[in-house]
Amino acid sequence: MFDDLQDKRVLVTGSTAGIGLDVASSLLKAGAKVVLHGSRGPAEAEALLAELDAPGRSFYLQADVRDTAQCESLIAKAVDQLGGLDVLINNAGGLGGRQGLESIDDDFFNNVIDLNIRSVVMVTRFAIPHLRASAQQSQQTSSVITTGSIAGREGGGMGASLYGGSKAMVHNLHRNWVKEFTKDNIRFNTVAPGTIDTAFHEDKSDDLKQTIAGSIAMGRFGKCHELAPTYLYLASHALSGYITGQVIDVNGGQMCP
Ligand code: NAD
Repeated sequence: MFDDLQDKRVLVTGSTAGIGLDVASSLLKAGAKVVLHGSRGPAEAEALLAELDAPGRSFYLQADVRDTAQCESLIAKAVDQLGGLDVLINNAGGLGGRQGLESIDDDFFNNVIDLNIRSVVMVTRFAIPHLRASAQQSQQTSSVITTGSIAGREGGGMGASLYGGSKAMVHNLHRNWVKEFTKDNIRFNTVAPGTIDTAFHEDKSDDLKQTIAGSIAMGRFGKCHELAPTYLYLASHALSGYITGQVIDVNGGQMCP
């Protein structure tokens, strides 16, 4: 059953590090054609592509997805490289710093919202015609998978209200898009990671990390390779063709919504 991702054309935003890189690498191992994406220049990405060792099936594009025009050109270039688009994975995002409510100014507000909301809305918006064409051509579903967060379920840590709120919005946007695009055979699902061991947590002390680990039923942070299979599952029509509008929590029992 699992040759389903062979030759699938996939864009993974925010895939130069962390969760996105593991997802891109796992997709390549499953035979997909993958555009990796990040905010770094192509020179730095060359080493990354060499390490992935999938010549002719792995590509890199640079774009700042906080900017609508760059979201549009990212999709145009990805479609050009891949010859179409079957699966979109919106993974780029981040905390953007911590500010208590009384310190939130317009710059901070715009940065967090652009990074986590504008990016998802605009990349998905420009991808829709290509995902629709893919589904029409294949007579299968195409798939949008977005990285949400446990913060979108429970509010986020101190100073991360906008981040937590933006991830809750991501979860809910998908529920709406199910209503608009299921007629086009496009599926929308969200993966909500718990606390995963990436650069995302580099601002935390070892003590704080231990405290957080103690709040997780499994007693430890998750690893990126424990996230990637859920994305592959949701990307595959054969495995998840009847699943849409869902938030799948991958969190070691940190929260059981
Ligand atoms: P990471 O910092 O390792 O990766 C972030 C990726 O996003 C990188 O590839 C980076 O280049 C890219 N990126 C960031 N800002 C960008 C911009 N403006 N334009 C283009 N690309 C940009 O962090 P991660 O933990 O792997 O995070 C990936 C996703 O997972 C994010 O959406 C994050 O909010 C979410 N998440 C992470 C955790 C966690 O505990 N690590 C928990 C819940 C959700």
